[in-house]
Amino acid sequence: MKQGHCLCGEVTLSIPDVSYDITVCHCHMCQRFFGSPFLSTSGLTSDQFQLSGQTSIQRYASSEWAERGFCKTCGSSLFYCSLNDKEYYFPIGLFEQLEGILTNEIFYNCKPEFYSLEGQTVKLTEEEFLTQLFKEEK
Ligand SMILES: [Zn+2]
Ligand SMILES: [Zn+2]
Repeated sequence: MKQGHCLCGEVTLSIPDVSYDITVCHCHMCQRFFGSPFLSTSGLTSDQFQLSGQTSIQRYASSEWAERGFCKTCGSSLFYCSLNDKEYYFPIGLFEQLEGILTNEIFYNCKPEFYSLEGQTVKLTEEEFLTQLFKEEK
């Protein structure tokens, strides 16, 4: 397992020690919540990881379909949880030397023009991403 923790260390987390497909979300909500685009692990269900320090975790319902978590003490962003399938997406910054490959950029049309990421990625606009999501649910 790969260990991670928030800035103050009250919330700790362990996820499988595998190479992750890293997705970057450029949406405005992620930019506000994380202070920058959200570089995320692939989705994990709660039986695949351990999250401790529950009393220090504040959950925030950012939309009807998702909750975001942060540490009550230090304010570190901890996760994005999709309520539909109960999948958790963790910011890669919580972990040291996480292995992964940057594969996807979503809400690409929301990305500010003054930066871009290197590497070959699948880039989806908000519309393309939501169309794909909607198709999968059918
Ligand atoms: Zn903390
Ligand atoms: Zn986002």
